[in-house]
Amino acid sequence: MNVLVTGGLGYIGSHTCVQLIEAGMNPILIDNLHNSKLAVLERIEKLVGTCPIFHQGDIRNKVFLFSVFAREKIDTVIHFAGLKAVGESVEKPLEYYDNNVNGTLVLMDTMRNAGITSIIISSSATVYGDSASVPIREDFPTFATNPYGRSKLMVEECLTDFQKANPGWSITLLRYFNPVGSHKSGEIGEDPQGVPNNLMPYISQVAVGRRKYLSVFGDDYPTPDGSGIRDYIHVVDLANGHLAALRKVSTMSGLHIYNLGTGDGTSVFEMVAAFSKASGKEIAYKVALRRLGDIAECWADPTKAYVELGWEATHSLDDMVMDTWRWQSNNPSGYPGN
Ligand code: NAD
Ligand code: UDP
Repeated sequence: MNVLVTGGLGYIGSHTCVQLIEAGMNPILIDNLHNSKLAVLERIEKLVGTCPIFHQGDIRNKVFLFSVFAREKIDTVIHFAGLKAVGESVEKPLEYYDNNVNGTLVLMDTMRNAGITSIIISSSATVYGDSASVPIREDFPTFATNPYGRSKLMVEECLTDFQKANPGWSITLLRYFNPVGSHKSGEIGEDPQGVPNNLMPYISQVAVGRRKYLSVFGDDYPTPDGSGIRDYIHVVDLANGHLAALRKVSTMSGLHIYNLGTGDGTSVFEMVAAFSKASGKEIAYKVALRRLGDIAECWADPTKAYVELGWEATHSLDDMVMDTWRWQSNNPSGYPGN
């Protein structure tokens, strides 16, 4: 199967690409290198022995996208390309709506013109806003608390309308909880540019000596140790969730929505302790004020994905921190190159 993967050089895209090739599929990658480096391609080749086809360009560029669809034989699409930093989205809402919403619409239009009617899309647990209860099921109400979340919700709503009007399409929305970890080889991993926004890359950069200490955003939440609780999921499990969706629902018309999470919650302090154990390094931290817009706890009910896709997360928290540490300690400054 030939799978067009937008954002294929990014964190989740690169891991999905490896899993696709190992499963005998043929990914064709698109990326504009806004948040990734060409070195990722060499690492993928090192891991799987073959370099995937790569087209450098922007999904909002209709001429570019049309040329890729004209040149390649594409059976289905996995769409990762987008911007993902909540704080940045508050500063630059237009850029977020343009990239995430407009980018998706250009992609859908190009697919329609090319006669390709099956797509899997990255969504996020952020679409649940501050859920009234946990664990969170797919039928819980959705709500956006910032422009990033709103852009994801808008994409979900646009595609829901589109699928209603085009019932022959298969559209799968995968709502990721908190992807962490890296391929067990330590060759590919998360390489945030600038100061990391997310907990795991921040902790790993403290462990490797790139940052002095972690700021723990709040120890006064109504949780057992006072810090925020999230559902961290190993990125390889997440990648395999896409393969499960490809196999089970990408040929079934309809709108398919799944949570991809483990169903377990881990607090910030528990994560610090797990990382410290795995790396043998003390993780210096200071308790800081709560981060604006943060919620106390968020974890998935992943039952639907298990029942309908036959998928479940298999990596433990120890796997997540060990694999992150292997990637970070082998690549203290991330990928080489600009
Ligand atoms: P990432 O930034 O590592 O990867 C995204 C890739 O898309 C990057 O390589 C970037 O260069 C590329 N890109 C961005 N805009 C593009 C455009 N207009 N044209 C072509 N390429 C473009 O991010 P990621 O963590 O791999 O996330 C992938 C998707 O998953 C995103 O849509 C994100 O919103 C979603 N998601 C991520 C998380 C997370 O915590 N990582 C959680 C929930 C949802
Ligand atoms: N967090 C923290 N310090 C950081 C980054 C994150 O204490 O430098 C906390 C944050 O408040 C939340 C958890 O770690 O409770 C996960 O945050 P992340 O940004 O990784 O994911 P999200 O909030 O988007 O679920």
